[in-house]
Formats: sequence, structure tokens, C-alpha cells
Amino acid sequence: MALCESPLGGMGCGDAALGILRMTTFDCKMCGDCCYGEGGIFLKEDEKGRISRFLGINRSDFLTRFCEERNGRTYVTTGKDHFCVFYEKGQGCRVHPVKPARCALWPYYPANVNDRETWEMAKLACRGIDREGSFEDFVKDSQTAIQNKDTALVEKS
Ligand code: SF4
Ligand code: SF4
Repeated sequence: MALCESPLGGMGCGDAALGILRMTTFDCKMCGDCCYGEGGIFLKEDEKGRISRFLGINRSDFLTRFCEERNGRTYVTTGKDHFCVFYEKGQGCRVHPVKPARCALWPYYPANVNDRETWEMAKLACRGIDREGSFEDFVKDSQTAIQNKDTALVEKS
């Protein structure tokens, strides 16, 4: 699926999982399921610079080794094991502190927040989303998650 974050887990292993944020509707199980599958993680310009600096390589090397161009966008590549190239089994995301915004935001994607049925489907894909929690609480938590992501991105830029 590769929707989607330490060295801890999958894309949803963000601040919520690390205990920085207290979410009642999501608790990442660090299973890595969301880092598996053909890559859907594209990078914005600032993310390319941030991640290459974190890895200690120049931007050109970073793009060659870890990215591919498709449909006018830069995507993180998928490894032979079909996991995101940054995913290490047993370790999690190698770029967790600076992972793409798309990964950091999961599961509070607009699609999941705006549509109850999509949220129900997301629960099937991600075992970290609380099965018993209400959609309304999920939407409420999403606002905290989005705020935190924006703040973190400003701090890391
Ligand atoms: S960048 Fe990290 S969190 Fe995002 S898909 Fe790759 S391994 Fe998962
Ligand atoms: S619990 Fe969800 S967000 Fe966390 S690693 Fe598994 S699939 Fe990804």
C-alpha cells in the first residue's frame, strides 16, 4: 500500500506513536504495513532538501539513489522487498525525524477525515486506528495532528 515513520515503525509511527501527541483515535502498532507496496509517496521540494541533509548526502545523490520521477512528480522508490526504500524491517523508517509530510500525517489524511466510509476502509488497512473510536473523535484528533505536522515542518525547514 505504501501510503505512507526513529527508527520505529511505519509511516504512521509519527509523533502520536512516540507519545509526543496524545491521540485517542490512533495508536501506531509499528507493523510497517503502510510502508509496503508500490510507492505512493511523493516529495515536495523542501522535503528533498530536508531528507538529503538528514542522510548526509547531496541532493543529486539523494534523487538518484532513493527517488524516481513519474508523472511530473518525484516519488520515493520501492525496494526489491516491495517496501519503501527507507523502510528497514525491525527498525522502521530510516528517515523518521524528517519523513515526508504525507507519511507524518497518516492516518489523518483529508480523505479519511472528510468521509466516514473512507475512514472505515482506512481502519481495515491500518491496525493502529482505534476500532471502537468514533468518527467525530477521529476528525477532532486530525486537527491536532495537522497543527503539529505544520509546526514540525516549519521547525525542520
Ligand atoms: S518514508 Fe518512511 S514512513 Fe514513509 S513510506 Fe517510507 S519508510 Fe514508511
Ligand atoms: S499501525 Fe498503521 S500507521 Fe502504524 S505501521 Fe501499521 S499500518 Fe502503519
